[in-house]
Amino acid sequence: MTRVLVLGSGQLGLMMAAAASRLGVQLDRLDPENWTLLRGTSPTPEPLPSDWRGEAYDHVTVEREHFPDRAVLQAFDSHPGFKLANTLHCLADRRRQKSFLDELGIATSEWLTVRDRADLAELQHRVGLGLVLKAATGGYDGRGQWRINDPQPEVPAEAVPGQLIAERVVAFEREVSLVGARNRRGDCVFYPLVENEHRHGMLVCTIAPGELAPGQQAEAEDMLRRIMDALDYVGVMAMECFEESGRLLVNELAPRVHNSGHWTQEGASIDQFEMHVRALANLPLTVPETTRNTAMLNLVGTAFDPAWLDLGKTRLHWYGKEVRPGRKLGHLNVYGATNHALLDNLEALMKRWDPMDPADIQRALDILKRDIGDARGETQHTRPEREQRISN
Ligand code: AMP
Repeated sequence: MTRVLVLGSGQLGLMMAAAASRLGVQLDRLDPENWTLLRGTSPTPEPLPSDWRGEAYDHVTVEREHFPDRAVLQAFDSHPGFKLANTLHCLADRRRQKSFLDELGIATSEWLTVRDRADLAELQHRVGLGLVLKAATGGYDGRGQWRINDPQPEVPAEAVPGQLIAERVVAFEREVSLVGARNRRGDCVFYPLVENEHRHGMLVCTIAPGELAPGQQAEAEDMLRRIMDALDYVGVMAMECFEESGRLLVNELAPRVHNSGHWTQEGASIDQFEMHVRALANLPLTVPETTRNTAMLNLVGTAFDPAWLDLGKTRLHWYGKEVRPGRKLGHLNVYGATNHALLDNLEALMKRWDPMDPADIQRALDILKRDIGDARGETQHTRPEREQRISN
């Protein structure tokens, strides 16, 4: 039996463990902060000896790219199944990630490393007033980011000069992401591009598949394939992009399963968690089919409600975490055979129950309405290409 160890004990590893069990792969999770092991989907942590190095595992993977304690990664450096050291070194720091993309000739928003206010002024001189500052490491879900729109820019007091990048604020039409997987032979498969909506830097909903301009899927796949090839990466990777004037600019890469791929649990023939395990365990990397139109809605800072289990055409994924404001606690995948059906299901959800800020559901509705062209489904701008892709 193939054995996989995940560094990290959050919901992504848990969903990987559930997928792995369907494939006969043993996947356990290491809680690096407490140095405990969670076997399969078990919630019960088992303490580990301090010199434990997971020798029994064939492959070591991660569910996050930031490990504040470098010793955790160093502990696995000499593990023959841990191939991620390079990738994490390159991607976990925004400065290195942006430089890597520049070297590959893949477009991102203009940027520079910020040591002092002169750097901010220089970037403003090149790209205009609107800048976003980001901590080079450790920020996620909008944390460690600051907006600047001041002709006399200052480095925020909470930011660490030198450990910071500034980017041009992109006036994007929309945000999209591509999730793909690569195996050891270099074969790649991709899911369709999806559209994402963020609030305060945190993903609130994904609409899948996304509305595509001609050639956009192929362009995105080419970008992500080049990235994964350059890193000789194995597993699932997500590429988040801005679409600006029809052009894709990479915002961020995640060397792992990703929140914007959660829709695949209900909307694709193989979900991203299974695809990741397949890639790692050298199992067939079958091209995933999109089986349903899906809206993924994150449940943020809201207590569990059994009523979620009683909603039609909706599947709940609850992570079992302690409820805290602003924390991702679960997600709902609302689905339909067509976008019109999905729209109806979302409207029913909106009327019946509003667990999160209803603006989030409203935003998913707006995206679908825009895509369909007509809220009530009368045929203004239908999407033959996409509907056909789904029915095939
Ligand atoms: P990030 O942590 O880099 O993924 O950023 C979180 C969210 O903040 C993104 O999904 C965007 O909604 C927004 N954002 C980040 N960087 C920029 C940028 N350069 N221009 C416009 N919006 C941005």
